[in-house]
Amino acid sequence: MISTSLRSLERFLLPNACIVCGKAVPQWEPDALVCAICRVRARQLPTGCRRCGQPMPPVGPCRFCADWCDALVWVHSIFWLETETRVMVHHLKYEQCPSLGALMADLIADHARPPAPGWLIPIPTGAKRLKQRGYNQTAVIGRRLSQRWKMPLAEAALTRVRDTRTQTALTPEARLANVAGAFVARPAPGLAKSTLDSNVRMAILVDDVLTTGATLDAAAHALASAGWSSIGAVTFARALPYASRIAAQVHRAKRLFTN
Ligand SMILES: [Zn+2]
Ligand SMILES: [Zn+2]
Repeated sequence: MISTSLRSLERFLLPNACIVCGKAVPQWEPDALVCAICRVRARQLPTGCRRCGQPMPPVGPCRFCADWCDALVWVHSIFWLETETRVMVHHLKYEQCPSLGALMADLIADHARPPAPGWLIPIPTGAKRLKQRGYNQTAVIGRRLSQRWKMPLAEAALTRVRDTRTQTALTPEARLANVAGAFVARPAPGLAKSTLDSNVRMAILVDDVLTTGATLDAAAHALASAGWSSIGAVTFARALPYASRIAAQVHRAKRLFTN
């Protein structure tokens, strides 16, 4: 009781600052890490390809998911990776802010209808990065999502068997090669039983950011080899399509010169 009052007083005297815009968060949500304005500013993906959600090209079928393995049936990203969401992901991954993972899971659950029930499987982090960071950022998102969607979590279903190079500067082809064979999966629950219920083998991968889908593709491949089925994936953010990224960089550069 006393500690709650002291905490309220501390928040009143020293309000938290939003990690994105730096402004003090309002008193009605004193513990918010990201203010309501920045949360609303995060831009959602429009409807697109029925499998991967990417906006469709002007002509022809979707090329974004064309090379993914058949085991990866659907992928849903909630927001584009730009200003607000980029800061959130950066803090979750590099600024020792694991509690942001719960906020990101809440934003996913607030904006996406729960998928057909399955096991939530966070993409594992390599041993080296896990040691540096102290936590796996996708597991933090997955744990909260498991509460919100009331679905079981299978944190140990996937293991990253080798540390991969950071994907940021790699071409799509190099990303595929970089993550190929990076994961091994445990057998799906139910495989040992005589009566197989396909529902118990359904998997929903959880990741923070999707860029080309190479990581999800490699993880789905490993899960399918271990007997999992109907593999889907949900990610908090998705990298902007190349053309939009270039346009955004030009826009930012122009702003720098005109200011
Ligand atoms: Zn803000
Ligand atoms: Zn697609």
